[in-house]
Amino acid sequence: MTNLQDQYQRPLRDLRISVTDRCNFRCRYCMPAEVFGPDYAFLPSAKILSFDEIERLVTIFVSLGVKKIRITGGEPLLRRDLPTLIERIHQIEGVEDIALTTNGTLLKKYAEPLAKAGLSRVSVSLDSLDNERFFEMNGQRGKVSTVLEGIEKAAEAGLQVKINMVVQKGQNDQDIVAMARFFKEKQHILRFIEYMDVGNSNGWRLDDVVSKREILDQVQQFSSLQAIAPNYKGEVATRYQYQDKQGEIGVISSVTDSFCSTCSRARLSAEGTLYTCLFATAGTDLRELLRTGQDDAMIRQHIAHVWGDRTDRYSDERNEQTRAKRQSVKIEMSHIGG
Ligand code: SAM
Ligand code: SF4
Ligand code: SF4
Repeated sequence: MTNLQDQYQRPLRDLRISVTDRCNFRCRYCMPAEVFGPDYAFLPSAKILSFDEIERLVTIFVSLGVKKIRITGGEPLLRRDLPTLIERIHQIEGVEDIALTTNGTLLKKYAEPLAKAGLSRVSVSLDSLDNERFFEMNGQRGKVSTVLEGIEKAAEAGLQVKINMVVQKGQNDQDIVAMARFFKEKQHILRFIEYMDVGNSNGWRLDDVVSKREILDQVQQFSSLQAIAPNYKGEVATRYQYQDKQGEIGVISSVTDSFCSTCSRARLSAEGTLYTCLFATAGTDLRELLRTGQDDAMIRQHIAHVWGDRTDRYSDERNEQTRAKRQSVKIEMSHIGG
């Protein structure tokens, strides 16, 4: 066991691994079609970490305190033989939990082999139950029914299922109640995600964010909610139980109520770059170390230094700035008023 901590005493516990930069959707808030068009240069396969390389890095990360692995992308189910990778990670001593985030389009096909390989949990992204609005949001690529079939298959295969809905003002905020009702009925936990300013291409504006408060107000139109304790320290979603105790929802409120102080997540991109924050502007190239014959001890030391130096708290800082801006507006107004 290691007591590696960053500059704010946060341990390294979770590793999110992107296994591909490609996707069969073009969600406007993530990979808008105007930017990720037919000429977009995705990574050639030689630049993407192989399963051997991922397995080796996971073993090193586990020796530094990582217990949970989440596989993501791009769309991770586009990566060939993904169940084989899950099986290899599952066999690494110290890995306590493997989860997957997916848009669900290929889940019907892969749910069973993934569960057999040792996957425990799946988060399926679905932004609306209305085909037209879903189509509009995912770049005209996927149908609601395909995703719902994938969700059913995942549950049948014994995977724990959660649904992720990114809420964008004027796009799908009208679907909040319908989604809550539907997944309460289905007994799947629905997590609302505040639209975030990730990347550089989604044209994010604070005005397009539907806040946690607004989301909760809408859900409470059909059932009152009670806040419940997190399952573990650092859980990203705040949890709420329905009044009849039949089911719960979560809200991931990185914009209006950030949670950097407990952030124990590192991210590994498809080409093997380590990022210590979702909003990082630079990372550390681990692929270079792997491919130039460095031994595990050296790579481990390198990662430990990067984590030890970590000072990321992007969302907290963004919130502080927003608050400061609001306060300065207030002062001006009172001057005018006086
Ligand atoms: N393709 C998979 C999927 O959509 O689930 C996995 C990768 S996707 C980048 C991971 C999660 O990030 C999804 O739940 C997606 O909705 C969410 N996401 C992407 N862009 C976002 C944004 N700008 N704000 C909030 N969440 C976002
Ligand atoms: Fe693809 Fe997921 Fe991004 Fe949508 S959110 S474009 S499904 S990677
Ligand atoms: Fe963690 Fe960065 Fe998100 Fe804060 S902004 S919770 S440090 S990933």
